[in-house]
Amino acid sequence: MKTTFKAFTLSALFIFTTNSLSAEVNIYSGRKEQLIKPLLDRFTEQTGIKTNLVTAKADKLLARLKNEGRNTPADLFITVDAGRLHRAKEAGVLASVNSDALNKAVPTHLRDPDGQWVGLSQRARVIFYAKDRVKPEQLSTYEDLADPKWKKKICIRGSGNIYNQSLVASLIAANGVEATEEWAKGLVANMARPPKGGDRDQIKAAAAGQCDLAIANTYYYGKMLTSKKDPAQKQAAEAMGLFWPNQNGRGAHVNVSGAGITKHAKNPVAALKLLEFLVSREAQKWYAEVNFEYPVNPEAEVSELVNSWGHFKSDQVNLDVLGKNNAEAVRLMDRAGWK
Ligand code: FE
Repeated sequence: MKTTFKAFTLSALFIFTTNSLSAEVNIYSGRKEQLIKPLLDRFTEQTGIKTNLVTAKADKLLARLKNEGRNTPADLFITVDAGRLHRAKEAGVLASVNSDALNKAVPTHLRDPDGQWVGLSQRARVIFYAKDRVKPEQLSTYEDLADPKWKKKICIRGSGNIYNQSLVASLIAANGVEATEEWAKGLVANMARPPKGGDRDQIKAAAAGQCDLAIANTYYYGKMLTSKKDPAQKQAAEAMGLFWPNQNGRGAHVNVSGAGITKHAKNPVAALKLLEFLVSREAQKWYAEVNFEYPVNPEAEVSELVNSWGHFKSDQVNLDVLGKNNAEAVRLMDRAGWK
């Protein structure tokens, strides 16, 4: 009896081991562990597919993917910004995937036309205004930020930041290089100070009276408003209002965090399963909620706080364009003197 039991356990263990060997996904993520791990655990619970997560700076991981070539252990690359996803595509480290589930869940403009990456969460880059000094009626478009009426009134981070590069890339797509260069010169003239710090620092500076307007991604506003560790962040965000630009035109500039299956993935089927899970309604709700982002799947709900910012029209240009226009955007910002 004892022997039979032992034999059974051994064979069961054997089957389990072979299954788990073939069913796993190795992930390189430029996003922090807490923004993905709970979903990976849920995925494993539902499918039995194990996941291994490596997190580091996105540009480091991309360099690593390139160096490792066909020997890479990574099946999936996760990062923020379509501009960076495009860099991964250009570097030739991603595979083209055609999945009905992905195509159905994610609107066309939020995924690569060649299927090399797909958006997982969405954020808008918008204008924040000091409520005690600016009325929302005075605001309209990104283009208007170059108007001399905002001289020395705007806080925005440096041109080395990909969020700004992507914003400029979207302006190039809408207005062309020449007009966007003029715009950038006007914006530089309107900067209250030489660019420094991240998005939160712009909101803080405006709240402190160093400028009237700050440009930042929406989720930073959400994080600041709910900050328990730092009451000063909450206070700063509360002094600022969120304005949706270009609502009578193309809509507010949006960007994504996203992922692509690597070209040399050893577990492409499991990796695709994970991608499909991540864009499902259930996963999307959590994913967007935890970081105050917007789901890419239009069927998923947004959090209460994010919902309180109101509905907005978003620019529908394919985010692929942000990558394609990136080099032009960087050169243009440099010519305009955007530090
Ligand atoms: Fe960010």
